[in-house]
Amino acid sequence: MNKVHNFSAGPAILPQSAIDASIQALQNFSGTGLSLIEVSHRSKEYEAVVAEATSLVKEILNLNDTYEVVFLQGGASLQFDMIPMNFLTPGKSAAYVNTGVWAGRAIKEAKMFGEVNVLASSEDKNFNYIPKDYQIPLDVAYYHCTSNNTIYGTEMFDFPNSPVPLICDMSSDIFSRPFDANKFDMIYAGAQKNMGPAGTTLVIIKKSLLEKANTKVPTMLNYKIHIENGSMYNTPSVFAIFVCMHTLRWIKSIGLEAMEVRNKAKADLLYAEIDRNPLFVGTVVPEDRSRMNVNFVLTNKELEEPFLKFCKERNLSGLKGHRSVGGLRASLYNALEIDSVQALVTAMQDFEKLNA
Ligand SMILES: *Cc1c(COP(=O)(O)O)cnc(C)c1O
Repeated sequence: MNKVHNFSAGPAILPQSAIDASIQALQNFSGTGLSLIEVSHRSKEYEAVVAEATSLVKEILNLNDTYEVVFLQGGASLQFDMIPMNFLTPGKSAAYVNTGVWAGRAIKEAKMFGEVNVLASSEDKNFNYIPKDYQIPLDVAYYHCTSNNTIYGTEMFDFPNSPVPLICDMSSDIFSRPFDANKFDMIYAGAQKNMGPAGTTLVIIKKSLLEKANTKVPTMLNYKIHIENGSMYNTPSVFAIFVCMHTLRWIKSIGLEAMEVRNKAKADLLYAEIDRNPLFVGTVVPEDRSRMNVNFVLTNKELEEPFLKFCKERNLSGLKGHRSVGGLRASLYNALEIDSVQALVTAMQDFEKLNA
């Protein structure tokens, strides 16, 4: 079969080593003679997987012992509820910035549990930039932001020095570059963008934040319970965490510094073509362009469907923009190789010649 270049926004491309290890483990997991999807999550072989995935997260992000790491279910979306349930303490409000659909959903859920202070929003320009001109109040329970806006293609490259606990949804750019993780009180990420398959969510929480958590929280939604039980309060997403562990091994083998060099080279190549090619135009202000999700449109909207068809014939898959914004979106997550981006750029150039 010809190689399919996978630009899907999520579930998304994973390293071949993680896929190969999964195929093998579906046949015979860790020498048990059993398939990965039929072993007990409490077997010593599987407990070793969760332990390694957890310690790889700490090691790659340089987290010190003041942090806890757990793998939960319910997607990043359940975190939109768990965060205010656990940390929006009575009498306080929580601060959010609205940078797109996911941030908006986080805000909507938080409002069910208490008062929400939306410090800034880029909705006025269809979320094509990251608001920067705002102050985080001193008296809020926490400040929540979204580092990469998967649907609109904007990314935060600088994080504020927050006077209150800093909580970030990093679902679509975690492990894509080095950053100071110790600056955050909580980081969470659904696995299916840059870390693994759908079915598990990585949650990193600082112990000092946990100490301030509400006490009356339903058991399955209580961070402390999941942490005390090492991601095994109930049956975890056995398969998904296994694939995450292998993806994390691959990330570690490259290192975040080199990962950033790779990701920047891919994004630079594609944005340069978008800016050069008269058929295409980027939708995001240049300084906030995401390296993970590149959003663009055709200057002549009638050429959009033909271009997508042209791409499909060349095995360039997953390029249709999110249904809420339209246009095109190329997701360039960690595991995507630069030759896939080159294939897309070549298609853009050939399409230009055809339509000259
Ligand atoms: C995809 C995504 C979500 C939603 O993740 P689910 O796992 O589907 O709940 C939340 N935030 C961001 C930034 C995302 O990219």
